[in-house]
Formats: sequence, structure tokens, C-alpha cells
Amino acid sequence: MIITKTVPLLVTVDVEVASDHDLDEQAQILDQLRCSLNNLPITWFCTAVAAEQFSAPLRRLILAGHEIGCHGVDHSPEDDYRRMSPEGAEAALGEATHRIARVVGLRPRCFRGPRMTTSRYTQAALVTHGYHADFSVCAQRADFFISGGAELFWLFAPRGAYHPSKNSPFQRGELPLFVVNLSSLGVPFLSGVLYLGGLRLMQAFFLALLAEARRRRGAIVYLFHSYEFTSLTHLGRQPWHQRLYLSDRPRRYEMNLALLNYMSTYPGVQPMTASTFLKQQR
Ligand SMILES: [Zn+2]
Repeated sequence: MIITKTVPLLVTVDVEVASDHDLDEQAQILDQLRCSLNNLPITWFCTAVAAEQFSAPLRRLILAGHEIGCHGVDHSPEDDYRRMSPEGAEAALGEATHRIARVVGLRPRCFRGPRMTTSRYTQAALVTHGYHADFSVCAQRADFFISGGAELFWLFAPRGAYHPSKNSPFQRGELPLFVVNLSSLGVPFLSGVLYLGGLRLMQAFFLALLAEARRRRGAIVYLFHSYEFTSLTHLGRQPWHQRLYLSDRPRRYEMNLALLNYMSTYPGVQPMTASTFLKQQR
């Protein structure tokens, strides 16, 4: 591993088609984010369905230096990478990879399962399909009951980036793939916590993660969803914890931009795409 003085910051966005949010706005927000983010490189984990639906703004993101990753086929309940058979994972990843590459023009190299789902069969299929990393683990996340795809094994998974075992995605091993954790300190480092606790709390969260990342020479990985800033078209389908979030969508957008600006300009922090980070690990 190359020893760097800076701490890598990996901003990741999950892009799925949210059927209860305005569809046109979900396409427009990708262009709006690209303009607002200036040169901040981001990794956008897209489902195959979202890549096809939003192909034009996604291609503009690639031209601006961003990276497109794979977020499964369609985010349906069946698109669950914990439960698929070896053949099922192989087929689903083959289909998702092909459909994303066809519309955005580049083959994705990084994966995050819908609802953070993965398995040893999924990781074997990721290797077969030429992937370099799986972003579906959140080590030592204690609120695992909140994420539909969470695993008790997360409590005992190594933090940071590691090669997983072929028998378990949550143990170190020899698989030629990296697991890159979503950052956490009991709770995950994602936008929902920003909407519950506010900007100051997230800045303090970031500083705590930064101190740990400096000790371990790790990265900080943050997550939000593109649809979070778009209008809800019908109510009543949100999980209970999301109903507690700040509901003002423009304010959510402003808070995310303020947090991203705070983190990316912090001394000693280097924002980068997933693949740039992985190149440093080899
Ligand atoms: Zn998702």
C-alpha cells in the first residue's frame, strides 16, 4: 500500500429510480448536482434501470470526471444480493453490468448492492465480471435494524478497506476484490443522519472519522441518494425513520453541499473517486 499523507474522501451517491418521487426531477437533480459540485469527484452507484432512465445526465457526469458504479438491476425486493444463488448473482450482475455499460459507455468497476446487500456468491460473481470493489458493508454499524439489507456480521467486519475471504464478505481473506466500508461510528455516515442531527453534528462526526482515518490510514466514505432532493409524489411508503428526517428538500440540498464543501476543503483531505482510491491501495 502506498503511504499517503492525505486522507481520501469518497463521496458516494446511490442512484435508483424512486417510484414515489417525481421522475423528471430525479433526472434534473443529476445535472444540478454536477453544476453545484464543481470539481468534487463522486462515485454514482446506479441501478441498470436508473442508468437507462438517466443516461444523458450520467454521461455528462462521466465527462466531468465522475465515476459510475453498479447498484444492481432494479432495486426491487428480488434484487437482493444476500439471498441470490451463485447462478442468480452471476446472472444479475452480468445483466446489470451489461445494461449500465451499454448506456453510459463505460463498464462499472465498483459495486454497492441495493440496501447494502452482498454475499460470498455475489463477491465471487463480482470477481468474474471484472469488478475491483464491493461497497456494500458498513462495519460496526450498530443500528443494523434500520437498513433492510444489514447484517449482524457487520458488527464484526474489519473497518476500512480489506480483501474479503471467499467464505465470507465480512472477514479478511484472499479474494482479488476490495471491500470498502461505508464509514460509521455506531451509526452510518450518511445523509439521513444529517437530516436528523443537523450540519454541526455531521461536521463533528466527520472530524471523529478523520482522526480514525489518520490513525489507520483509511478513507472516509459518505453516502446520499440523488432522489432525496426531489418531490415526493405520494406519501405513506417511507420507512418510519425516514419520516423523522428534515422534509424541506431545498434545505437538504443546501446542507449536503455545505457538508461536502466543509469536508472536501478540510486540510489534509483529498476527495477522489472509488477507482482512484483503489489504485492507491495496490
Ligand atoms: Zn439504493
